[in-house]
Amino acid sequence: MDAMSRPTTTNVKARTRGDVITLPAAELPTRWYNVLPDLPAPLAPPRSPATGNPVTPDELGRIFPPALIEQEMSQDRFIPIPEEVLAILAMWRPTPLVRARRLEAALGTPARIYYKHEGVSPSGSHKPNTAVPQAYFNRLHGIRRLTTETGAGQWGSALAFATRMFGMTCRVYMVRVSYDQKPYRRTFMRLFGAEVFASPSPHTASGRAILAKDPGSPGSLGIAISEAVEEAAGLPDTNYSLGSVLNHVLLHQTVIGQEAKRQLESVGETPDFIFGCHGGGSNFGGIALPFVPEVLAGAPIRAVAVEPDGCPSLTRGRFAFDYGDTAKLTPMVRMYTLGHDFMPPASHSGGLRYHGASPIVSALLEAGVIGAEAVAQGEVFRAAELFAHTEGIVPAPESAHAVAAVIRKAAELREEGREATILFSLSGHGLFDLGAYEAYLDGTLGDQGDQGEAIAAALAGLPQVRP
Ligand SMILES: *Cc1c(COP(=O)(O)O)cnc(C)c1O
Repeated sequence: MDAMSRPTTTNVKARTRGDVITLPAAELPTRWYNVLPDLPAPLAPPRSPATGNPVTPDELGRIFPPALIEQEMSQDRFIPIPEEVLAILAMWRPTPLVRARRLEAALGTPARIYYKHEGVSPSGSHKPNTAVPQAYFNRLHGIRRLTTETGAGQWGSALAFATRMFGMTCRVYMVRVSYDQKPYRRTFMRLFGAEVFASPSPHTASGRAILAKDPGSPGSLGIAISEAVEEAAGLPDTNYSLGSVLNHVLLHQTVIGQEAKRQLESVGETPDFIFGCHGGGSNFGGIALPFVPEVLAGAPIRAVAVEPDGCPSLTRGRFAFDYGDTAKLTPMVRMYTLGHDFMPPASHSGGLRYHGASPIVSALLEAGVIGAEAVAQGEVFRAAELFAHTEGIVPAPESAHAVAAVIRKAAELREEGREATILFSLSGHGLFDLGAYEAYLDGTLGDQGDQGEAIAAALAGLPQVRP
């Protein structure tokens, strides 16, 4: 009997089909879950960079529309998603939840591993989940143009797509190191009509100040944010849009966790562990926040944010007020931070090179409701390779941080001989990141060395904030 006609072939097929858990279109969540009223303690109000006092809605109104400012501070547990936004999210949502059975087999683990596949969106990551409502609420307020930063290019791509959906344009300051590493991300954004500049750029005072000190600066998200905020604050028809960190961004991403929860329920599962990579906290928050009420009620669910050891804000930063950007133009927020001057080493996970963290994720970590863990670049790419070999999907290098942590946990469970259900966020695919994989295959991708000295120096520059 030849291999093709073996009966196991059909078994594998049937089982494989059952491993992709989809939701009907009608089950797309129609409201966002707002964790703010459920936090163990209220968040410290952001402080104005100009006065040091709590920031006023008027100050925020220079760069954000009223609806997003309201969401940023809302105490409503659920916020309805506008029909116009749902219509666009429905182009790719609900996203599949997939049982990673081949990865489980390769690891020989008793763990059941599920991943929420956000790489199926138009731009290939979870970012359009917030880009679409942000563009919508800005357009509703009469705004025609958005400025933003982008690290690896995923956020710029998502905003380029979303602004195009609402007949707007956007200008993207792209961190220099990624601008050079990922030329096709630039093309993607330009195809949707966005203008893309390498940051630091000569177009803004913030960019020029950095270039004067260091003409070869690789850039950072903190610098690119300064440039985008500076430009938006100076133009009446232009607002600024941030792809992560802020409360309203995590709010918009909760469609991920709400769907995943229903999908797991449909196969009779609840997660014991939840993993998401962490740059500014949006995909981790998106998948984990909808489970926070259960965690607070005592359910044994451990959610862990996974960050690179080259930019370890959650595991080695300080919980303190700090600026969101390098030029100190944004409000100061209380978060885990490495210091706004921290320059992360160049890496292939541009989306994770941020000195700070989401205030919501920071508060949950500080309260012990969630955990955090750091992984090295080499381990991350080995994990990505195994994931590609078993599940057939090339993960974004950012997402592969979660894969690495899942593999660690699965090995631990194997050693303990313990079953458990693991849920993780596959925040994006890596098909625009093949340059990084090329370096990995060529053996030229290193780990990034200990950042202890640079972290200590940047922490010494944290602002003093009156209580
Ligand atoms: C931007 C990005 C991240 C990091 O941002 P978070 O806000 O922490 O989610 C992670 N993965 C992908 C694919 C991204 O595009």
